[in-house]
Amino acid sequence: ALSDQAALAIERINLATDFDNAMRAAEREKLRAALLTSISHDLRTPLASILGAADSLATLPNLPQRDRDALLSTIQEESERLNRFIANLLDMTKLESGAIEPNMGLEDISELVGAALRRAENILVEHHVETSLTPDLPLVRLDAVLFEQVLFNLLDNAAKYAPSGSTIRIRGWRAGGSVKLQVLDAGGGIPGADLDRIFDKFYRVSKSDSQRAGTGLGLAICRGFVEAMGGSVEADNLDGGGAVFTITLPVPEDERISVTP
Ligand code: ADP
Repeated sequence: ALSDQAALAIERINLATDFDNAMRAAEREKLRAALLTSISHDLRTPLASILGAADSLATLPNLPQRDRDALLSTIQEESERLNRFIANLLDMTKLESGAIEPNMGLEDISELVGAALRRAENILVEHHVETSLTPDLPLVRLDAVLFEQVLFNLLDNAAKYAPSGSTIRIRGWRAGGSVKLQVLDAGGGIPGADLDRIFDKFYRVSKSDSQRAGTGLGLAICRGFVEAMGGSVEADNLDGGGAVFTITLPVPEDERISVTP
């Protein structure tokens, strides 16, 4: 039989554990409520613009063509934004339920960078883009679709958070057993305390960010996708200002030894 003292100690531990679990459940519940509020807000804001614009078009038949065009663009842009948000939510849900199964193949980074740049063309019209990939980049094992999405999200952010007219750089090189790929911008950078939290879902640095189209999901998806492919992604600030995102991917075994004929 247990001594009274031991029984008491166990009782205390159980109580503490119950308390801990209850606290954690309460925390989770609070977080869930906050997420739902945030999602509802993100869905409602573009919807309100769409409804408003459609309503004006329907009730004001004599609007000048220029105003009608502007209302139509609003409907298009805001629908696009809704579409992106829902796509992000689906990606996030897939990631969290472990349903992402990367379709890994040996891929040429420079081709994937090219594809992502073409897809981001419309977003990048106001920026200069400079790409420098060293010629010794080995093929890397990854899922081309997921990887392109990661690059697209990083480019989208660079365009969003760095002033128009500035330069966005993409750099890639081989560092021993890894390949490094960076997206660098000349924006305001990220406050030090937020460097890791920006990868949390729905996390956005400041209130002013919430005026810019965004979901706070882009980087969470980036990290989830890169990790699902066996790599890692980190954020940092450049000395001269601006943010830099670094993706690290392992060089596949069979690409490690360079064979000279
Ligand atoms: P979103 O851009 O939709 O807000 P993300 O998950 O892509 O969501 O980014 C999270 C936050 O990280 C952004 O709200 C912004 O505060 C910060 N951030 C991301 N990329 C950059 C960047 N290139 N420069 C400065 N801040 C950035």
